Amino acid sequence: MRVDVVTLFPEMFAGPFGQSIIGRAIEQGRLDVSFVNPRDFTSDRHRTVDDYPYGGGPGMVMKPEPLFLAVESVARPASDVILMSPAGRVFSQLIAAELARREHLILVCGHYEGVDDRVREHLATDEISIGDYVLTGGELAAMVIVDAVARLLPGVLGHAESAGDESHSRGLLEYPQYTRPPEFRGWPVPGILLSGNHGEVARWRRRRSLERTAEQRPDLMTPDLAAELADDGTRLSRSAQKRAARAARLAAAEASSDEDQSG
Ligand code: SAM
Repeated sequence: MRVDVVTLFPEMFAGPFGQSIIGRAIEQGRLDVSFVNPRDFTSDRHRTVDDYPYGGGPGMVMKPEPLFLAVESVARPASDVILMSPAGRVFSQLIAAELARREHLILVCGHYEGVDDRVREHLATDEISIGDYVLTGGELAAMVIVDAVARLLPGVLGHAESAGDESHSRGLLEYPQYTRPPEFRGWPVPGILLSGNHGEVARWRRRRSLERTAEQRPDLMTPDLAAELADDGTRLSRSAQKRAARAARLAAAEASSDEDQSG
């Protein structure tokens, strides 16, 4: 996959993209990341990339022309031009999987008070937020997106690091993981994991995934998952059972209102 990051601060990426799994993916050519600096697409002596907002107000706004020219210098017909923005659709594992199937991502990082809205309207094909908070610039957001997408590309994670069972990959949180020693400060690893019985281990993991999701993220529980958990003789506390049941009722109500709206 090819990724072009449009940024005024390409140096910020050296650390995160030079290390570990992402560094290796780049080195092996599975991920090709380049940087385009909008400042290189200015025509005035001061290489100006921002200006005062029309209508007044604090801060500076990134001018459209350097951003349009920077993107157009690398865009191809199959490119997705994604504006980093706190107003965008909120990034998730599902969106990471969707982007991992694309050929070429162009991630546009805003700074200062943001970017001229014509960039969003006429240049970007997508607008993504990494969460409901405001960062000083889009660079950290672009790093988060590249990291989450890159590890889903074929061959980036070894078999031992497979992404299949992880939190959010199948709508559930991951089961608890343990490594040696079998007992640490008096806290033992659950005996089943030492049993060597693969079928029992798989069942235990599924059940713990369901329980953990119901306890920690009841909003992720669907009616089907809640029914599976109930059938499974849950060990949840009463309050967690109540929260899971409430989340399942909400999910069912949401699903039926979606159906009503589409019908
Ligand atoms: N004034 C803007 C607003 O209220 O929406 C915020 C601008 S922010 C200080 C500067 C830049 O950081 C944005 O243009 C965007 O590229 C990036 N940014 C900030 N928060 C973000 C988030 N949650 N997700 C993705 N990008 C973000």
